[in-house]
Amino acid sequence: MRVLVVEDDKNLREQLSSALTDAGYTVDSAADGEEGQFLGETEPYDLVILDLGLPKIDGLTVLKSWRKDEKTMPVLILSARDRWSEKVEGLDLGANDYVTKPFHMAELLARVRANVRRQTEHQSSVLEVGDLRLNSATGQVTVEGAPIKLTAYQYKVLDYLMHHAGAHRVAHRTD
Ligand code: CA
Repeated sequence: MRVLVVEDDKNLREQLSSALTDAGYTVDSAADGEEGQFLGETEPYDLVILDLGLPKIDGLTVLKSWRKDEKTMPVLILSARDRWSEKVEGLDLGANDYVTKPFHMAELLARVRANVRRQTEHQSSVLEVGDLRLNSATGQVTVEGAPIKLTAYQYKVLDYLMHHAGAHRVAHRTD
């Protein structure tokens, strides 16, 4: 499992990296939005921890660019207690979860595990509703067998709706 930590506070970045490494994750870190954005674009991460207040490019802009680029890895945002509007905006832009600073490392690790698990479960099935079929491992959506192209946001909405429409899982990954 590969995790990217994007955090400009050196102490916090190091604490996060070492706690995640101890928990068994392979960790990369970035100290500003530009480097973070680049890594998230080019490397396959299973999860990203993204601070919002970052030098060069702010966290919300980084998140927006990843989602626009159809990067669907879970993103957990770190935000300051009083910045609730940023949290709402972050969730609207496709963040999967958020943790308010200051936080307990144990809580953060629990959130990381939950998000990675959700993503893995999510990837392990093909959902089917009528003629509509969604393969979450490949991200392919087909209607009567013909592939259709969706934006990351449309895909997320469809995936959500299918999960809640009583779709049945037709295939499971064996690993
Ligand atoms: Ca910061």
